[in-house]
Amino acid sequence: MLREAGLRVTRPRVAALSAVYEHPHADTDSIVSVVREDLGAVSTQAVYDVLRALTAARLVRRIEPAGSVARYESRVGDNHHHVVCRSCGAIADVDCAVGEVPCLTASDDHGYSIEEAEVVYWGLCPACSTADRP
Ligand SMILES: [Zn+2]
Ligand SMILES: [Zn+2]
Repeated sequence: MLREAGLRVTRPRVAALSAVYEHPHADTDSIVSVVREDLGAVSTQAVYDVLRALTAARLVRRIEPAGSVARYESRVGDNHHHVVCRSCGAIADVDCAVGEVPCLTASDDHGYSIEEAEVVYWGLCPACSTADRP
């Protein structure tokens, strides 16, 4: 995958890419610890740089719901949406409500070439809504 994307294959890149595959929607800190389990000492900055390269090459997608740190996922290219728990920050994938990337068809694009539409559903996850009940 790295080679196809025109990236040099390095151990930190391989480790970070597999970490994102194994832990969808993980934040940078969690990815850093997974990479460290794999490779030993790696600086946070190094992992941060790798994630930026992987995101730029569109091998991973970076999402950043309001009030949350950046998170990364391997599900790229389908413009799916996310549901976020207001209480614990849990995130799940939500497919587009209507067919293929329909939300990219803006009612008025103002002449912009649009690549991505971001929809975030906010609410409480099942665990938190159960915990809230008296
Ligand atoms: Zn929750
Ligand atoms: Zn997702």
